[in-house]
Amino acid sequence: MALPYAADALEPVISRTTLGFHHGKHLAAYVNNLNALLPGSGFEEATLEEIVCQAAGGILNNAGQILNHELYFGQFSALKEGNEPTGALAEAIVRDYGSFEAFKDEFQKKGATLFGSGWVWLSADKDGKLVITQEPNAANPVQKGLKPLLTFDVWEHAYYLDYQNRRPDHLAALWQIVDWNVIEQRYLQG
Ligand code: MN
Repeated sequence: MALPYAADALEPVISRTTLGFHHGKHLAAYVNNLNALLPGSGFEEATLEEIVCQAAGGILNNAGQILNHELYFGQFSALKEGNEPTGALAEAIVRDYGSFEAFKDEFQKKGATLFGSGWVWLSADKDGKLVITQEPNAANPVQKGLKPLLTFDVWEHAYYLDYQNRRPDHLAALWQIVDWNVIEQRYLQG
């Protein structure tokens, strides 16, 4: 996937350097790996979601990371002060977490306490109820029948150049660049 914004559009929350390595090297490697593994696998025509729910081993891991990063890179836009969700998604957050602040606290805590590499996710279940999960390595909530809405990448490659070991500071800063219109569209999609 091409980035939907310029390489420096997310500064200073995510630097041009981090974005360059993360999108241009890490994601590109997962794409190259998957393309090398697909021929003869039976998954040549499958969607990423189908692969992630049915495959194993290297095909699963690389497809999972591609799906995760497409959702991740596709959910940001330039820094906005006082950035908050609106509409049906905002109502669901207040309904299920009490307030946007309480939701952010729980999401950040789950991201900060995920041991090792992985992703923290906000998803919706089949009834539209919101769920926060920690997913290790390349896992994605679609594997649990959930609809993924928002994700923060807690692999060190996502933040180490900008924040070193300060993962919680990175997670706290990311709220300023979440494009809540994208997240709400994902929530409203059937
Ligand atoms: Mn990543």
